[in-house]
Amino acid sequence: MKMKSPRHLILIFGDQLNRDAAAFDDFDSTQDAIWMAEVDDESKHVWSHKQRIAIFLSGMRHFRDALLSEDIRVEYTQLDDGKESDKLSNRLGIDLRALSPEKVIVTQPGEWRVLQGLKKVCRDEEVPLEVRDDRHFYTNVKDFEEHAKGRKSLRMEFFYRELRKRFDVLMEDGKPTGGDWNYDKENRGSFSKGGPEGPNTGLGFRPDVLTREVLDLVDERFADHPGSLDSFAWPVTPEEAQKALSNFIHNRLAVFGKYQDAMWTDEPWLYHSLISTSLNLKLLDPRDAVAAAEKAYEDGHAPLAAVEGFIRQILGWREYVRGIYWMHMPEYIDRNAMDAQEPLPDFYWTGDTDLECLKQSVGQTLEHGYAHHIQRLMVTGLYALLLGVDPKKLHEWYLAVYVDAVEWVELPNTLGMSQYGDGGLMASKPYIATGNYINKMSNYCKNCPKNPKEKTGESACPFTTLYWDYLIRHQVALKSNHRMGLQLRNLDRLNEGDRSGITKAANEIRSVSACRTPSKT
Ligand code: FAD
Ligand code: SF4
Repeated sequence: MKMKSPRHLILIFGDQLNRDAAAFDDFDSTQDAIWMAEVDDESKHVWSHKQRIAIFLSGMRHFRDALLSEDIRVEYTQLDDGKESDKLSNRLGIDLRALSPEKVIVTQPGEWRVLQGLKKVCRDEEVPLEVRDDRHFYTNVKDFEEHAKGRKSLRMEFFYRELRKRFDVLMEDGKPTGGDWNYDKENRGSFSKGGPEGPNTGLGFRPDVLTREVLDLVDERFADHPGSLDSFAWPVTPEEAQKALSNFIHNRLAVFGKYQDAMWTDEPWLYHSLISTSLNLKLLDPRDAVAAAEKAYEDGHAPLAAVEGFIRQILGWREYVRGIYWMHMPEYIDRNAMDAQEPLPDFYWTGDTDLECLKQSVGQTLEHGYAHHIQRLMVTGLYALLLGVDPKKLHEWYLAVYVDAVEWVELPNTLGMSQYGDGGLMASKPYIATGNYINKMSNYCKNCPKNPKEKTGESACPFTTLYWDYLIRHQVALKSNHRMGLQLRNLDRLNEGDRSGITKAANEIRSVSACRTPSKT
């Protein structure tokens, strides 16, 4: 029997699990229907971590059930229900032919690839498509384009200040609360010898029946994918997301800022908020996170530096990277300003390395699908940058292995901020450092066979070797960047013998790394 054709078919993707999205405006449950689909390709186009697959599927199934409980018609494809579910566009094409809606409505997807696929299917099936702004964000793409007009460089700080004023966040009488826009200098602390106080055990949400079904499905269907499901404890409903936020505001926000850049052995979570998955799946509104932090400051529960630091991540970085993504896609993904061509070392997928900082950062990534910002930027990102890994290959890794990975936020962070692959559109200079930085910000080096102070020789730290090699290789290209002046002047102090020793040692690191690279990306 042919199903009744809906007036509007509202498409909801796995990162659009908010009931107040624009796609629901004018929704009429007597005439309209929701469409959601689980498809293999979304877990396979990059070789996704099992927890990343699980969080999206579990979030989607919970959202579907919440809609059903409102008596809303949901056309849902489950991976295990025997329907054709290889690619999103194929599934949608089949359903459009069967359902013949008058119109398809969608909130702007988070990925350029998905939006193009969607436009093509609707064109092919001759169904009108309406794409609505994503109100989850403070700003839309046009706001960012407006901000970018006439600017040579696009630094986050200026966009952030505009948004602080426009949305009246941490402002008093038109001026930034406390007198300064940015308290970053107070947010660079490292731990003393004893390390962080008390273990932070992570979020600890126990999987319910629905999530356990998903975990079993992922375990079986994606058995060869990276990572473990054992520790899965992420929020998968708006209620859990609110609890995760509240837990952070009450227990960790006050020290978040100070130790934002610090790392410690076997401490994956430290004082971070762990709300990126909730925000990116749209289980949590960023305004709730910002308001809760602001209130904690007003109530005297957290210092200004911590609160401003946290708000800057959400109101500043998160909005800014989305602007960069949509303004510069699709060509952005192919940028490779430093002509980096090395393959990604295999230990990124296995954690099998004796370099302690990488073992820790990759190990916890495989265990939990999570690493905090400095581990991503200054350990895994830095190593790939110094080694000269092709930024697109690295992008595919970051997109695959983190539970919070969605392309609009992951790509600019990886290619722009971490790899300088956009030639300085995002970062004013490459984020490069020797092993001494990691030694200062963590206790990793104490358990490592290498020595962060040494450039060459048996116990040389590869970060330190590759740092100098990076400067040697890119000396000419970076000469005109005044922010690189000090680093390049230090390079000038090295004699020819030092330089050739560094180049030889760096080439050896590269050749060993390339020999051990598998073919997963
Ligand atoms: P916290 O440290 O507690 O920060 C609070 C919130 O601020 C985060 O939840 C996040 O929503 C936001 N935020 C912080 N830093 C950034 C940033 N640089 N850009 C955008 N938002 C930010 N974040 C993602 O959400 N998804 C990704 O796929 C992702 N990939 C990254 C790849 C690289 C190479 C780097 C360097 C960073 C990446 N980030 C990504 C940014 C950041 O590392 C994560 O948002 C953060 O580690 C998530 O953990 P948390 O929720 O505990 O964050
Ligand atoms: Fe990492 Fe080098 Fe320190 Fe070892 S010595 S932990 S490789 S920074």
